Amino acid sequence: MFAKKSLGQNFLKSKAALRAMVAAAKIDTSEKGTIVLEIGPGKGVLTEALIQTGARVVAVEKDDRLIAVLQEKFQKEITNNQLQIIHGDALEFDPSTFSADYKIVANIPYYITGQFFKHYLTAENQPKSIVVMVQKEVAHRIVARDEKESLLSLSVKCYGTPIYVMTVQKKYFSPEPKIDSAIIAVENISRDFFNVILENKFFDVIKAGFAHKRKVLISNLETITPREKLKNVFQKLNISEKIRAEDITLNDWKNILKELQ
Ligand code: SAM
Repeated sequence: MFAKKSLGQNFLKSKAALRAMVAAAKIDTSEKGTIVLEIGPGKGVLTEALIQTGARVVAVEKDDRLIAVLQEKFQKEITNNQLQIIHGDALEFDPSTFSADYKIVANIPYYITGQFFKHYLTAENQPKSIVVMVQKEVAHRIVARDEKESLLSLSVKCYGTPIYVMTVQKKYFSPEPKIDSAIIAVENISRDFFNVILENKFFDVIKAGFAHKRKVLISNLETITPREKLKNVFQKLNISEKIRAEDITLNDWKNILKELQ
């Protein structure tokens, strides 16, 4: 069966990477009813490793050709209800149907990375944690390895703690992609950050802050708040007027938002 490029099909061959993903998910099967949501099970290598932990797995796959492969491979687990295979788009799947806590473990197609985080981190029923394979550069950006924040890193960090688990070289995928990948985990997912600031307002403000890369933060924010007010806020918080959006922390954003609200 040929791999569909349009569906981001790069199948994982590394046993070490599979083990690392399962370990990073810290699946606790002693808590009854642990659900693991897998996105894009493909031919089922990760599905198999997840099933071996004893967890209940719900796997959402878009490619109808692979549904038949999975049904054949996991007949027993489907019959005894340990595995449910859903034919559909993971970006349309509604996790509010789950009756227990769930975690996401997935080797996602890279073309949906941004939308994937948005869909699940902002869902009414958020996962407890996420372990995913992403492009290495994207993983670096999410954890802000170079200490530069981005819209992507802040959009993840406001809901949880991203951790770089390990690099997975491109040779461990079939077909081989052009660049290396990395496994990241997002732990302690919650909406606690938004106890004191509004979720929508936060995203409006960070988007404005990053709108023009060359401009300093205060100039970017001028499109939503008068400069005089911003100057007072920055002074009060001891933030330089010359600073760029990428150089301030999530906590600084929270403080700015609190002052602007
Ligand atoms: N999990 C397998 C592995 O590790 O070898 C396959 C990973 S492959 C990178 C991504 C998988 O996601 C493919 O099976 C692809 O068909 C599926 N996929 C692509 N877009 C999807 C979507 N929107 N919703 C659900 N599955 C999708």
